[in-house]
Amino acid sequence: MPVECRCLDGWYPLIHRLFDQIVTYCQTAGKPYPRVVQIKEKLGALRVYLDIYADVEIKRLRQEAEVESTRICEICGAPGALVNPLGCYVQTLCPEDLKAIRREDALHAAWSVLRELDRQGYRPIILGEIFGALGEAPITYAFAIAEPTADDPSRDRPEGIARTYLRDGAFRVLDVKNATEDERNAIEQGLTLAQFETWLETQGRRRPLGNPRSDGSV
Ligand SMILES: [Zn+2]
Repeated sequence: MPVECRCLDGWYPLIHRLFDQIVTYCQTAGKPYPRVVQIKEKLGALRVYLDIYADVEIKRLRQEAEVESTRICEICGAPGALVNPLGCYVQTLCPEDLKAIRREDALHAAWSVLRELDRQGYRPIILGEIFGALGEAPITYAFAIAEPTADDPSRDRPEGIARTYLRDGAFRVLDVKNATEDERNAIEQGLTLAQFETWLETQGRRRPLGNPRSDGSV
């Protein structure tokens, strides 16, 4: 019966090495091979469950691999550390993959706001990473500039949305009239939502799940 392997590729060399060590040990010591029950990630570490637990040496090899896994990026196999990328679960990652996950999350959050602004009749403009150098936040992915649409210039600013999503400096919603000079310059270079989608595609990036294109197509 095939064994389910519920961890990412970065640990595969470690798993192969563990199995080689177990096979060598069993052959040398004349012991029966254990059967693998399950392989998975738990609390940021590799867990390999076998049907033979009593053997001290096999237990030691398993624990050794488990400890080592907390120093290897589960995604790519580069040196890594136990981290908590989004504040809700621990994972062993290298600095690059940690950054990528946080960016993806910031993008996802930004996207939700942009869709909501669109729905409320505001015109969102994406500034990409233009503000990355201006802001103090370590990760700055997307900023949205919102201004009321021409047909209803008197409507309230989307303050509630700005407050809700202004976390980690990932992006903010600006009122064009009160923008700083730097921000005004950036606004002129900003992308519309549709242009941003096209840019994402040229970067080989997918849209966050569950988010259709701004024109409604899939
Ligand atoms: Zn990595």
